[in-house]
Amino acid sequence: MSRDQAGAGPWQGPRLDLEDKLYRVRYEVDAEHPHIRVDGEACGRCVDRICTFICPAKVYTESPIDPGQIQVRHENCLECGTCRVACKCEGISWDYPNGGMGVRYRFG
Ligand code: SF4
Repeated sequence: MSRDQAGAGPWQGPRLDLEDKLYRVRYEVDAEHPHIRVDGEACGRCVDRICTFICPAKVYTESPIDPGQIQVRHENCLECGTCRVACKCEGISWDYPNGGMGVRYRFG
């Protein structure tokens, strides 16, 4: 039996999926001032959609009703900055959330 089948990681603890891991952080959502914005025109020209697979929190997904457009769940952002560097189409505007907002760690 492989380690995955046994459900244990190298430390012999339970394996957690993304939703379980994200449950261990908290967010203060600033709905009026989202810290991530996408430029639909730039996303429409993008061919690799790197944001949809490079983000560790799966913040970006392709719209099921408008293929080619990117949906953003900014409230899940871990503020790692990866997407900001990876997007070559300049379709992502990213800044840190306002003070007191955004991700809070130390709940895991
Ligand atoms: Fe995802 Fe990191 Fe970008 Fe937040 S900063 S959206 S966690 S890649």
